[in-house]
Amino acid sequence: MKMSKLFVQTLREFPSDAEVISHKLLIRAGYIRKLAMGVYNYLPLMWRVIRKIENIIREEMDKAGAQELLMPFVQPKELWEESGRWGAYGGELMRLKDRHGREMCLGPTHEEIITSIARDGLKSYKQLPVNLYQIQSKFRDERRPRFGLLRGREFIMKDAYSFGTSQEELEKEYQNMWNAYTKIFKRCGLDTKAVQSDSGAIGGSVSHEFMVITDTDAGENDVFYCECDYAANSNHAVSVLEETNTAGSWKEAQILDTPNTHSIDELCEFLKIPATVIVKTLVYIIDKKPVLALIRADRQVEETKLMNSVGGNDIRIATSGEIEEMMSINGYDAEKGFIGPDGLKEYNGYPVTVVADETVKNMKNFVIGINKKDKHGVGYNWEKDIKLPEIVTDIRLTEAGDKCPVCGKPLKVTRGIEVGNIFQLGTKYSKPMNAVYLDRNGKSQPYIMGCYGIGVTRTAAAAIEAHHDEHGIIWPLSIAPYHAVVIPVSTKDELQMKVANDLYQTLLKHGVEVVIDDRDERAGVKFKDADLIGFPYRITVGKTITDGLVEFKERNSDELKNIKPEDAAEIVITAVHELVK
Ligand code: ATP
Ligand code: MG
Repeated sequence: MKMSKLFVQTLREFPSDAEVISHKLLIRAGYIRKLAMGVYNYLPLMWRVIRKIENIIREEMDKAGAQELLMPFVQPKELWEESGRWGAYGGELMRLKDRHGREMCLGPTHEEIITSIARDGLKSYKQLPVNLYQIQSKFRDERRPRFGLLRGREFIMKDAYSFGTSQEELEKEYQNMWNAYTKIFKRCGLDTKAVQSDSGAIGGSVSHEFMVITDTDAGENDVFYCECDYAANSNHAVSVLEETNTAGSWKEAQILDTPNTHSIDELCEFLKIPATVIVKTLVYIIDKKPVLALIRADRQVEETKLMNSVGGNDIRIATSGEIEEMMSINGYDAEKGFIGPDGLKEYNGYPVTVVADETVKNMKNFVIGINKKDKHGVGYNWEKDIKLPEIVTDIRLTEAGDKCPVCGKPLKVTRGIEVGNIFQLGTKYSKPMNAVYLDRNGKSQPYIMGCYGIGVTRTAAAAIEAHHDEHGIIWPLSIAPYHAVVIPVSTKDELQMKVANDLYQTLLKHGVEVVIDDRDERAGVKFKDADLIGFPYRITVGKTITDGLVEFKERNSDELKNIKPEDAAEIVITAVHELVK
């Protein structure tokens, strides 16, 4: 490819609306252009990167025994009603109507469709297990599309689904996919960590996410990990509960005036007590229903855990208006800071559910809100003064330094970008959708399913987050849009042009994807663009060619070598051939 013909416009400046480096670099280096919020054009350089990632995925999925197919992007409502997700899937599901008024959606994921394909085609145990996958665009009307390709609304995903006859078979396929994922990300030049995670709207019980560890804002997930193998997303991380022996010194339960103590800090200050003596009450709305979360006040609630404890799909903290309304419906007039579980019965037409974190269970002589403005109950004890909620479970956010649930050592925390995940779904879709096969005894059984996703476009962006410097992108060779660039310093110099062209032809002949920068530009401009775009190898043909030498530079090193053109070609050709193996 000639640089003069390559469809790319690099920009001098970073775009002003991009927050993370992968987004900034993809725009500036001319890989993507925004079409609408969270929707991007993948320009030729980007498309080459995407295809490379897709091909690595294809090769490893095929090797692992999976079969590729392609399902429609637009999906009928009826299948989503069968699975029960038409109602359950939140605002991310982009719903639309055709000219006949039939309701459809843009596929955010394909469990329903693949399950319908399976039930039509996989009728006997003899056909199982099977793993089917596709690589395709998805659409999710994300609440906060941001960070460019890391969280788009339209993005490309590889999604695979396995069908089997037993939990054992599922676990075997799960491991098989785990191994394939490990190879895929390694081949893409990414170090990943497999961490336990929450299964979310997709459902199922066991799941792992493959995270690219990064200490930047681009890592939207907190990952807790330990020296032993334990690693989990914060929405799933657990720790050994440490009992604190703090208890209030009140002899008996009483109500104290605590004016203007709207925050835990203010209450601690006013009563001269540590936060560990206070039971904090938070008001949430989960799928329209009121839920109170009780937790020892030195800890935070983990919202996904709380949501799962009541089996919800959508969670948010209640507004002060809603709290006020809840108070008046139940005959109180307290505001934030004074809320407590006692006496709150209903809201929004639903009974109030109370969930207590394990931290509150053994608390004694504690302080708690009693729904009276400027007052708190102190010296309270469970059962004697107030009923312990029926649901007592782990809803707390794990914190760095908490004890590892496996080995007891202190947990560490870091940030990660989720590039892929694997789920054991079980019969979550096959049962409601009546997707069955006949077993050995001629009896109908629902498939035991798994699903396995990789964010293709997110993987490309994550590779940039992991590999870049102040000059631009440093692509791993395996997913770079081109392997090398040949730069003649002066296009007017005949010898330079001849050597550059010969090199270019030699590289092409040996299967190297190479660009020759034939533009009549200053060398500095060419170098800048080469660094920004991120060609893994740069061969510059300049004045030293009169001594028979070219300048050879790898993008991920500062070293400049003056070597013979044929030696430079040899290094690149060998590296590219190594890749194929
Ligand atoms: P997240 O928690 O980041 O929203 P998810 O749990 O919704 O991800 P899945 O539904 O399991 O993700 O999708 C499989 C893969 O698709 C994810 O591992 C991720 O790599 C990718 N992915 C999900 N949402 C997006 C998005 N909005 N933009 C780009 N890639 C995405
Ligand atoms: Mg999501």
